[in-house]
Amino acid sequence: MSQLFLFLLVLVPAAMMLDFRYHSNREMERYLLQVNASNPDIAHLYSVGRSVAGQDLWVLALGVSPRRHTVGIPEFKYVANMHGNEVLGRELLLQLVEDLVRGYRGNETWAAQILNSTRVHFLPTMNPDGFDRAGTNCHLSQGRFNGNGVDLNRNFPDAFTGLPAERDLDDANREAEQVRAVIGWLKTETFVLSANLHGGALVASYAYDNSNGGGELVGQASLTPDDDVFVHLAKVYSHNHASMHQGGRCGDQGPFQEGITNGYQWYPLTGGMQDYNYVWAGCLEVTLEVSCCKFPPARQLPALWADNRKSLLAFIRQVHLGVKGRVFDGSGAAVQGAVVEVTGRRNMRPFRTDKHGEYYRLLLPGNYTFTVTYPGHEVLTETFLVPYGPERNSALLHNFLLRRVAAASASSSLLAATTPTWTLAMLLAFQSLIS
Ligand SMILES: [Zn+2]
Repeated sequence: MSQLFLFLLVLVPAAMMLDFRYHSNREMERYLLQVNASNPDIAHLYSVGRSVAGQDLWVLALGVSPRRHTVGIPEFKYVANMHGNEVLGRELLLQLVEDLVRGYRGNETWAAQILNSTRVHFLPTMNPDGFDRAGTNCHLSQGRFNGNGVDLNRNFPDAFTGLPAERDLDDANREAEQVRAVIGWLKTETFVLSANLHGGALVASYAYDNSNGGGELVGQASLTPDDDVFVHLAKVYSHNHASMHQGGRCGDQGPFQEGITNGYQWYPLTGGMQDYNYVWAGCLEVTLEVSCCKFPPARQLPALWADNRKSLLAFIRQVHLGVKGRVFDGSGAAVQGAVVEVTGRRNMRPFRTDKHGEYYRLLLPGNYTFTVTYPGHEVLTETFLVPYGPERNSALLHNFLLRRVAAASASSSLLAATTPTWTLAMLLAFQSLIS
């Protein structure tokens, strides 16, 4: 009995008393291991790869089924510190882990609602090597790049500069380790919503970051077909933040109306992570610039956590916007690769059902028409009202039941499955990506 008590004494305080200071990579690892060991029912620690110097890229997943996906439970992620000298996000994510675990253990409703309805993945540092070399200057870039001198937020395959061939993705010389790790991660889970935490400004920036002068370019902005959703997501963060929504200037950055901006309108960039998430993984990602200073003094951490806490929690709940469900074929089996399109939203790559036969579609409340196409089956069109999901901790559940076509018209149905927005070349390129 006394041994058990000593055991708990060692574990519990460590997991429940995260101090406000910058933690080294080793300390962060130790903390995540402790949370994982102390909370096996809601925590699962895994590595998505290693940095150039061989440091693990640890991800902590929190949820009531932390080890594997549950049908109907959306996957959410927070990624921080991809620029090694933009460090506040690291500590914010550790504090958020601490907060959620403590809230859940204390039977607090808000924490239970989040962990019962969502699997939340935290990658507190995507660039531990850069962090090890980071200067503490507010504006300079020492430590920004990874161990090979690569800017990780310029190294993702970019849909606007030609579709990535399979060999590009596998080419060790072209892709930084961390970028390949994140690309691999996005293939293992169907992430629905994500944010990527940076520093050096105070703004929520949303896709696209790039453009090739096509129809997406509207004035100075490069707009996605889901621009209304992206604007809403960015505003959820900025308006729940203590001051971001005021849109004030941060040095030479800003002002930003309501604390949000289209990424391209702010400044165009190629190879960014948020465009990759959206175009290639169907995951809406917002880039959060959470502090004017890239490396704020440690004494400011309690106040900066207080500024961001409500926003970080509110943003997770937006994973329940819109509609979710499965697509079943003529024999009642859930199918992978069915195209689920929303009328009026010509996505560069349509949303498709994953290996569980599931789709998730973030949408604001309203009436929408959905078209579902799958080879050998009749094209299915349905219109229905989508309510506001976050207040119910669930998107609207809507399954689609397909009907098999008669054998004679099967080939024309296969053609119909290739939608106008999706050329055969793109289809082949994507199939090589997911294989
Ligand atoms: Zn950055």
